[in-house]
Amino acid sequence: MSERVLVTGGAGFIGSHLCGLLAGQGHEVWILDNFDDCYDPALKRRNIAGIVSRPDVHLVEGDVRDPVLTGGLFTDVGFDAVAHLAALPGVAASMDNPDLSYEMNVRGTLRLLESMGRHDVRRLVLASSAAVYGAGTPLPFTEDAAADRPLSHYGAAKRSAELLAHTEHRVHGLSVHCLRLFTTYGSRQRPEMAIHRFARLLTAGEPLPIHGDGDSVRDFVHVEDAVNGIRLSLEHLLGRDDSVFETINIGSGQSVALREMVRKLATVLGAEATVELQPAKPWRMAATRASVEKARDLIGYRPQVELDEGLEEFVRWFRSEAHSANGGPPRPTAAEAGPPAIDGGTGL
Ligand code: NAD
Repeated sequence: MSERVLVTGGAGFIGSHLCGLLAGQGHEVWILDNFDDCYDPALKRRNIAGIVSRPDVHLVEGDVRDPVLTGGLFTDVGFDAVAHLAALPGVAASMDNPDLSYEMNVRGTLRLLESMGRHDVRRLVLASSAAVYGAGTPLPFTEDAAADRPLSHYGAAKRSAELLAHTEHRVHGLSVHCLRLFTTYGSRQRPEMAIHRFARLLTAGEPLPIHGDGDSVRDFVHVEDAVNGIRLSLEHLLGRDDSVFETINIGSGQSVALREMVRKLATVLGAEATVELQPAKPWRMAATRASVEKARDLIGYRPQVELDEGLEEFVRWFRSEAHSANGGPPRPTAAEAGPPAIDGGTGL
């Protein structure tokens, strides 16, 4: 069944993988992305270079907050569903710039929801985050946890976006899946995220500044599993006419200590890891682990990629980027090795 899907943030790390997967499954895909400079926009253009020439993939450069643009798209194309990934992602970025985090993640979502409501676009998959679980939630995180004690502005903003979507569901009958993505890694990972940043530092033989004691644990989900979860969620919504609202975890269902992840990454890179412990950050979650039972029962999600295998895929991409004629990830500089905190990049 070929459906028309709008992917906001479709040129980003997760979005570009999702667009490739959806197009490969026979869907018609529109990428809406503003190529902001939260990281090098040239990397985002590279992310989608392999798919934009396909006849079933369309690129629209613009902002989700522009109602004239989204209204025109909704009128002209008539989308069956929207996957909303456009955001200012990252816990550390939200603590550096709370205003921008709420502007992009909350107001951006509200503008999109309003435009969808005006043009009767009925189905939405919203990229939320494990950061909504905040403080004190027992492991593994289950979707019925209160999620009302965020530790970061990012967590608060993503939870707010979920609540806005719920209001649209109740008032206008929008069908919504809020997917709480856990720490996603793999090829094209954002440059400031921990695994990507660690890889640059390890390659350069520089120490890894880890905040806290390195014993914090994370649920690392490979991007192939994450986008498969998003696809399953879209297809679930596309297959029904009633209006539903669900929050669903998309993780690996396993967690690993940061130290252990570093050891594994160093092994795959053939590098020696030295760690420089730094004071902990109060906005950092001590541990994350998804319960993926609801995702399995509701949409048939079954994560497949083990961490060792996923790190190998990441490193193959990292090396090919570094050696590509277009220039790969930049070598770490002293400034890059300093703040912002590297553990900020482990989240979400
Ligand atoms: P990313 O920054 O690579 O992708 C986001 C994309 O959105 C970028 O290409 C950016 O240019 C675009 N964008 C930002 N604001 C926009 C706007 N106003 N209009 C149009 N485009 C805009 O990030 P990512 O890691 O791929 O994350 C994708 C989504 O998944 C985000 O919503 C993020 O919060 C969420 N998420 C990511 C992770 C993770 O580990 N990567 C974990 C949890 C949740």
